[in-house]
Amino acid sequence: MFTHCPHCAATTISSANGHRFVCESCHFEYFHNTATAVAALVQWQGKLLLTRRARNPGKDMLDLPGGFVDHNESLEEALSRELQEELALDISHWRYVCSRPNTYQYNGITYKTCDCAFEATLSQQPDITVAEDEISELIWALPADIRLEDIAFPSIRNLVGGWIAKQQST
Ligand SMILES: [Zn+2]
Repeated sequence: MFTHCPHCAATTISSANGHRFVCESCHFEYFHNTATAVAALVQWQGKLLLTRRARNPGKDMLDLPGGFVDHNESLEEALSRELQEELALDISHWRYVCSRPNTYQYNGITYKTCDCAFEATLSQQPDITVAEDEISELIWALPADIRLEDIAFPSIRNLVGGWIAKQQST
C-alpha cells in the first residue's frame, strides 16, 4: 500500500500482514484497521429493496443501500444518512440483524470492512429519488426473484441469503 514512509519518505516501510505498517528508519507505525460499513434491509410488503451499482467496485451488480460509517457517527446515523443521500428516504428506526466481514477494492487499495446489517419495515411504498451517480436501478424483490450470484459482494450476498431464508421459514 505504501512505497515510501508517509512520515520520513524512506523506502523502509513494510507490513507483514497488510494491517500494521512499520518504518524501520523512523519507527513510524500505521494500522490499516477494519472499516465499519452499514447495509440496510428495507422491506415493504414482503419485498426487499435492492439497488444496482452505477460504479465500481461491482458496477451493474446488485447491492443493498448503505456505505461506510463516517468519523464520529453511530451505525444508525450512518444508515439514515446513506438512505437519505442515496434514495432521499427518511428512516430513523433500525433493528440490528447481524454483521459480516468483507473485502473492498477501491483505486488499487484493499479495504477490509465489517458490514453491519440493520432492517426496517415500511408500511407504505415510499417515494424514492435515486442518486444516479451511485445507483442505476432500484428493485423491490420478492425472495424467490433474487439470484444471489447477481449481488456484488460476498458479505451482502450472505446477508441477503439470510434474509431470504428467514422469509421462507415464516
Ligand atoms: Zn519513516
